Amino acid sequence: MAEPAASVLHAALACRCPRCGKGALFRNLLEVRDSCEVCGLDLRANDAGDGAIVGVILVLGAIVVALAFWVEFHFAPPLWVHAVLWPLVTIPLAILLMRPAKAALVALQFRHRASEMGL
Ligand SMILES: [Zn+2]
Repeated sequence: MAEPAASVLHAALACRCPRCGKGALFRNLLEVRDSCEVCGLDLRANDAGDGAIVGVILVLGAIVVALAFWVEFHFAPPLWVHAVLWPLVTIPLAILLMRPAKAALVALQFRHRASEMGL
């Protein structure tokens, strides 16, 4: 019998347990808990590791590079403005995107039972 699962969208956006949808997924900023504090699901078995960063790098990189070109061609600021501006934009956005991206991968792995296949 299949275990009930919270919706992938809810688990991803709220950063919650993929089974019950209630327990917090992360121990701190980006580290997945060992188990769900509400339903006891072993979250280590569903940890997506560094998988989410690839998608975040590709999406955020494309957006930030496009913005950097736009700023350069419209305002032609001195180089130090780019050096200060883009890390201030990129680092918070990367962290902001990493949490739901990682939560989505954990939820998808739980739903499709990747851990049982030894992946
Ligand atoms: Zn749970």
